[in-house]
Amino acid sequence: MNIVVCIKQVPDTTEIKIDPVKNTLIRTGVPSIMNPFDKNALETALQLKDQYGGKVTALCMGLPQAKAVLREALSMGADEAYLATDRAFGGSDTYATSYILSKAIEKLGPFDVILGGKQAIDGDTGQTAPSIAEHLGATRLTYVLDLKIEGDKVIARRQVEEGIEVVETRFPILCTATKESNKPRYATVKRKIASLKAEIPEIHLADLIDADTTKMGLKGSPTKVKATFTPQRTANGVTIEGNSPIEVADNLIGKLVDAKVL
Ligand SMILES: Cc1cc2nc3c(=O)[nH]c(=O)nc-3n(C[C@H](O)[C@H](O)[C@H](O)COP(=O)(O)OP(=O)(O)OC[C@H]3O[C@@H](n4cnc5c(N)ncnc54)[C@H](O)[C@@H]3O)c2cc1C
Repeated sequence: MNIVVCIKQVPDTTEIKIDPVKNTLIRTGVPSIMNPFDKNALETALQLKDQYGGKVTALCMGLPQAKAVLREALSMGADEAYLATDRAFGGSDTYATSYILSKAIEKLGPFDVILGGKQAIDGDTGQTAPSIAEHLGATRLTYVLDLKIEGDKVIARRQVEEGIEVVETRFPILCTATKESNKPRYATVKRKIASLKAEIPEIHLADLIDADTTKMGLKGSPTKVKATFTPQRTANGVTIEGNSPIEVADNLIGKLVDAKVL
């Protein structure tokens, strides 16, 4: 089974600061990490490999420094890792990013399973992985808790609002993982040391098969960001006091009646 895991390098959000003049993220000096949900996606891939055999390939689109998260993926158990990087890819929105990643996956060869996180903790759109499924014609399974394979059948348990949905489908599939999917394993010291020396091949525009450059980069991105800003806090919250939950509820109702909300 050929499994590809899409891994994004993201800024550690607890450290994020916004430039008050340019209204953009200040990335200088901000530590970068593997997108946490992508660790769950990788763990799903490694569990599939442990149970059914196969190869796990980690794939990231980003600048050369993103190789750090790919080394982390190798140290957790991925068999190989590739970085899609090219000037032509810069400024891509989710549509262009998913197109480039799908072209890179095509270049890597036939696949059975693609995994990604449910969302990136910086961009937060949750659009990239499902869009890859659209580009490649794979069955899209979001919020997957676990997968079982029976012959050429795939049985997925999905977390949905109402509970758990069980879906039966066939390969190829694209799944997104959530933090409820599993507990990502730790890297072993041996693999960590090996990952430092591992070669991480780069995939450039010239390597992609029949790539349409009008679907890449800033020019190929249908989304235009008009402005970004931090919402201003307009009022402080009010604490409703009381000696018991019932008294607090009574006091809240009293305030809502006074404000003519009730
Ligand atoms: C007009 C425009 C210009 C932009 N320009 C830039 C830019 O110059 N530089 C820049 O860094 N960002 C840029 N962005 C942001 C960029 O589009 C998003 O970071 C990217 O498309 C992923 O979207 P997301 O962060 O919402 O991820 P989500 O869609 O929330 O991510 C879901 C999952 O998709 C996978 N995934 C997402 N991105 C990648 C990736 N790069 N590699 C591997 N897997 C991935 C991961 O598995 C992830 O968990 C731009 C956005 C817009 C709208």
